[in-house]
Amino acid sequence: MPEDHIARRVEINGIVQGVGFRPFTYQLASQHKITGNVANTSSGVSIHIEGTKKNVESFCRDLSEKSPPLAHITDISFYDERLNEYRDFKILDSKRLSVMNTLISPDVSVCDDCLHELFDPQDRRFKYPFINCTNCGPRYTIIDDIPYDRPKTSMKHFGMCRACQAEYEDPGNRRFHAQPNACKECGPHVSLFDNAGKKVSASNPIEKTATLLKQGYIVAIKGLGGFHLAADTENDSAIVSLRKRKQREEKPFAIMSYDVDRIRDMLTLNPKKKRCLHHISVPSSF
Ligand SMILES: [Zn+2]
Ligand SMILES: [Zn+2]
Repeated sequence: MPEDHIARRVEINGIVQGVGFRPFTYQLASQHKITGNVANTSSGVSIHIEGTKKNVESFCRDLSEKSPPLAHITDISFYDERLNEYRDFKILDSKRLSVMNTLISPDVSVCDDCLHELFDPQDRRFKYPFINCTNCGPRYTIIDDIPYDRPKTSMKHFGMCRACQAEYEDPGNRRFHAQPNACKECGPHVSLFDNAGKKVSASNPIEKTATLLKQGYIVAIKGLGGFHLAADTENDSAIVSLRKRKQREEKPFAIMSYDVDRIRDMLTLNPKKKRCLHHISVPSSF
């Protein structure tokens, strides 16, 4: 081990779990020729680093300046440590400390990379509704306990298939250490039930649901954080029935639409209002 090597421990608190912080640290360590390890703890993230003084300092600077977009560091502390002469950099098993003090990331709406895969017929997650990655997907609603790891989430019931496991273990993959990683082979699926709780047989429950909506049915769609009651906005009798059952005679309902252009067909939008709406582009053939 060269003489100019030093060791440091970095303790980070804030929203640093479930936001790709460990993979980010791993990649940063390889960029700066740093050895050591990183682990989630019940107080945040703990990192042991070893390298030349110059590399350790540039690593520490990038750690807070280039942290992942969803991370929010509230506190970062550096401590001098003894050299352990680590030869590589590892992501260690999470550590449970007596102090539980970490913030949990909210659920994050689908990112552009995942949207692209979702509508790519060549992609193995084509039309898979539970698509997610290190930068997007459920967090808060699936966490049972901290530190944030798959066995402590509702995803513990789904063992990853080989392809998903390979992504999870590959530092170059955008799903490296993504805890809710899943695909149609190994992850959750959608099912449709009637109002008596009996499963409705359908080869594609989403298409079947769309057909039912068009026929005037009211559908409860179970999402991550609860249920959405849905009805066809252009079907007056469905809307009247929903208003009656919800005892919501006048209060407006939220409208869900395919894109901004179709919303424009239904109501008048000035440019300012239009900018406020999040516009997701999907291929017109979809
Ligand atoms: Zn994503
Ligand atoms: Zn899979």
